[in-house]
Amino acid sequence: MDTSERLDERSQEIVDALKSGAVVTLLNSGDVIIGTRDDLSPSARECYRASMEHNLGHQAQCADCLEDEIYNILMDAESHRADGNVEDANILEVEAAELRLRAARLRAAAK
Ligand SMILES: [Zn+2]
Repeated sequence: MDTSERLDERSQEIVDALKSGAVVTLLNSGDVIIGTRDDLSPSARECYRASMEHNLGHQAQCADCLEDEIYNILMDAESHRADGNVEDANILEVEAAELRLRAARLRAAAK
């Protein structure tokens, strides 16, 4: 078996694992760890899967995902601000505030 065949087999293994809800971690070394995340709640697992699939429909309706997104946006805003791009930072911060409001509404509706 040559290298590319081995790689294909490994890729298939990863895809199968992902389909069954496993968490795959790619290390900087290029190694891949496949594990089930028993510590993840079913809803967190759903969030994880949605983010892997870029399922925007889920992310727009999920307060947990929105909060992750808010965190990322605020990190971006912070780096723009550090670079002196105050205008870009402000735009992102407004966006984050709107998402925060939406997340709060979703949480309120879920109770
Ligand atoms: Zn989610």
